[in-house]
Amino acid sequence: MKDRFLSPLRWIGDQLFPAICPVCGEALAPGERTICLRCRWDMPLTDYWTGSDNPAAAMLRKRIPDLHQASALLYFRHESGYRAMIHSLKYGGRRDIAIALGEMFGSELRDSPFFDRADVLVPVPLHWSKRMQRGYNQAEEICAGLSSSMGIPCDFRALKRIRRTRTQALHRDSDARRRNVEGAFRLRCPDRLRGRHILLVDDVLTTGATVTACAAAIRTALPEAVISVATLAVVRGHTRE
Ligand SMILES: [Zn+2]
Repeated sequence: MKDRFLSPLRWIGDQLFPAICPVCGEALAPGERTICLRCRWDMPLTDYWTGSDNPAAAMLRKRIPDLHQASALLYFRHESGYRAMIHSLKYGGRRDIAIALGEMFGSELRDSPFFDRADVLVPVPLHWSKRMQRGYNQAEEICAGLSSSMGIPCDFRALKRIRRTRTQALHRDSDARRRNVEGAFRLRCPDRLRGRHILLVDDVLTTGATVTACAAAIRTALPEAVISVATLAVVRGHTRE
């Protein structure tokens, strides 16, 4: 009854305030969800999930010993609507974008021979104070989208950020970024992840300092852990393409 009453109101709301594509800023057409079809089609996809020695994996293997695999969905281009889209999901309260992109990414990873054995999704955690300020952790929302496409569970509480760090974007060089997050994470319940293939999930891969610090925390408690990394976007220059 409530829905029948609400739907005309929602229809009027959609006419007055149509949903906008976060990439191009155009109103979404009927049937389009979150990102318009043209921007989905034009998305600068990396196709990294089709090869085991892609640039993200090559960069991270220098930092994370025995890394199983790494991938990113799209290139982070500074002067583009796709950058604005990533910014909205991170700082603008647009959890729906993180979920939609996670679903897209998950359908690629599910069919990739390099990721089909992953069995738990672990997001890079925010410090509790930053999470409270932002209202959500975007990496958890990406995991939720990945999980619905890949059919594997998430463990949101596996890793804990034990100290608040400065935003990585404030640090330009790779050494400063590494020092900023080194020792900032701890694995809470190692037994829950023992023997499982862990897919670490974050929003943007730049120098890899954050996921490297998370992998180090996992390996401190579980030296034999099988770890892979999935991020929505990758900054091109850092992977030395
Ligand atoms: Zn668009």
